[in-house]
Amino acid sequence: MALIVQKYGGTSVGSVERIQAVAQRVYKTVKAGNSIVVVVSAMGKTTDGLVKLANEISPNPNRREMDMLLSTGEQVTIALLSMALQELGQPAISMTGAQVGIVTEAEYSRARIVDIETTRLNRHINEGKVVVVAGFQGISSAGEMEITTLGRGGSDTSAVAIAAALRANFCEIYTDVPGILTTDPRLVPEAQLMDAITCNEMLELASLGAKVLHPRAVEIARNYGVPLVVRSSWTDAPGTWVTSAKPQGRSLINLEIARPVDAVEFDTNQAKVALLRVPDKPGVAARLFGEISRQKVDVDLIIQSIHEGNSNDIAFTVTTPILKRAEAVAAAIAPSLRSQSNPKSDEAEVMLEHNIAKVSIAGAGMIGRPGVAAKMFATLAEAGVNIQMISTSEVKVSCVVDAAECDRAVSALRTAFEIEAGEQGAGSRGELLTPHSPPPVRGVALDLNQARLAIRQLPDRPGMAAKLFGLLAQHNISVDMIIQSQRCRVIDGVPRRDIAFTVSRMDGENAKEMLTQVAAELGWGEVVLDSAIAKVSIVGAGMVGHPGVAAKMFEALAQQQINIQMIATSEIKISCVVAQEQGVKALQAIHAAFELAGSEKFVVPA
Ligand code: ASP
Ligand code: MG
Repeated sequence: MALIVQKYGGTSVGSVERIQAVAQRVYKTVKAGNSIVVVVSAMGKTTDGLVKLANEISPNPNRREMDMLLSTGEQVTIALLSMALQELGQPAISMTGAQVGIVTEAEYSRARIVDIETTRLNRHINEGKVVVVAGFQGISSAGEMEITTLGRGGSDTSAVAIAAALRANFCEIYTDVPGILTTDPRLVPEAQLMDAITCNEMLELASLGAKVLHPRAVEIARNYGVPLVVRSSWTDAPGTWVTSAKPQGRSLINLEIARPVDAVEFDTNQAKVALLRVPDKPGVAARLFGEISRQKVDVDLIIQSIHEGNSNDIAFTVTTPILKRAEAVAAAIAPSLRSQSNPKSDEAEVMLEHNIAKVSIAGAGMIGRPGVAAKMFATLAEAGVNIQMISTSEVKVSCVVDAAECDRAVSALRTAFEIEAGEQGAGSRGELLTPHSPPPVRGVALDLNQARLAIRQLPDRPGMAAKLFGLLAQHNISVDMIIQSQRCRVIDGVPRRDIAFTVSRMDGENAKEMLTQVAAELGWGEVVLDSAIAKVSIVGAGMVGHPGVAAKMFEALAQQQINIQMIATSEIKISCVVAQEQGVKALQAIHAAFELAGSEKFVVPA
């Protein structure tokens, strides 16, 4: 007998008939010998309707009253579903978040869960009842008993948190799509259903998967090792399993407000190869990394920042033992990247650096928290560590630093983020221990909602990144991809570098205005904003130790004559920034190149 938490989304409970169908499914699962806790969303588009009502009264409704209002949607569903179950002869009881004891912080409209009481839930389960819980809502502690909501889409988070608290065998998320697809089927109808994906991959694919599964739910599943499956409530198809490494016995106290960073990782066995001043045109990265993969050189980080004039610098890191081979490849290819008619002496120069280390912080909690990267940079600055390169992904920030400074950097970061030495995070490495080796690329995501900012000529000394991203965090601007590249130039006797990053498009103008002021005061160079960009990413835990994945992605773009403006990577993700109008074409080309297309076209539900 298993204890299962089932969550049904809005469309799955959108009408009386649908609620009856859900009751049938729950009833069948109970009859098969299981205990069930059901978590439900509001019926259909109820929550949207309530938001609209509020906006008819106030353009800026009080947030407390907003939570009071929105929490009513789920309360309707729990009562109706319990009645439907009782009609089938199945004992059932409905409970609001407050009745269960889903305790949250006192933050209206985006409260995070602090604790879940299990006594009452367990008592009803033991009495043979199905407990039907209102998703998306909780109650603040501190004696206030305020009704809170977890943020739109938050019922997923309620369900997984309850599964973690009850130590349920697994959690099923029922929705109106058959599971998680390799990419957005509206852009690529040949997108295919995945059988499984790891939590870390899912988090890196947040811009693709967030509509199907709330990232906070994935974070909890990962932290507590809750097996999770996303399935359609219309069929009996198996859906997509979202897997994680073995649970680490993490405490259930402060469930969602634990540390934003759960690991500090480092690798001193790295060396850097940079190709300076290569032409900024389609095909260059493809040629370089194509040759590198033919020579079976496994690269780790790849970083290409914004161009300057019409040339780029591309840098990558490799493990020290294969540096010689990587250098040979870069040197062999460099002449072909110089302009044939009129070669200039400084074109396509190969630069090596032996003594570098990569230091990273990892953790799902950094999603949507602008201060986390800034804190890393500030910590390094205080420790006097200069950052040579930066590359980020959704759940990781990696910095390349001088190898001699690695120990200092790591111990400062461990202190700042309260990580014990030797503590293992739920990082991508842990998940590789699973018996089946994952495919190199699991899915492809396109984000058309970003803008790119660059600050030219920031002095290259400790504290600059800290200052910049600290300011953005203070202004509550979330930064997505951060790239600090290789190119360093001496101006007025000071070595300087550019830093580029992406923000959500609606923050672009504000960020530019704020930074332009600061830049003038601090003597930084120009602040450049480009809103017409797209970010296309491939994600797959299997790309680790699999040379050639980056090359294949760049090659697919080159074949379509798409210029790559920036590149950033983590162990399980490669992201490229391209021109916005080429975004969809880039997505389609990459999806096809990795043979992710299925034989059938996916029909997008209306
Ligand atoms: N009803 C809420 C919403 O529409 C929560 C949820 O469905 O997950 O956002
Ligand atoms: Mg949802």
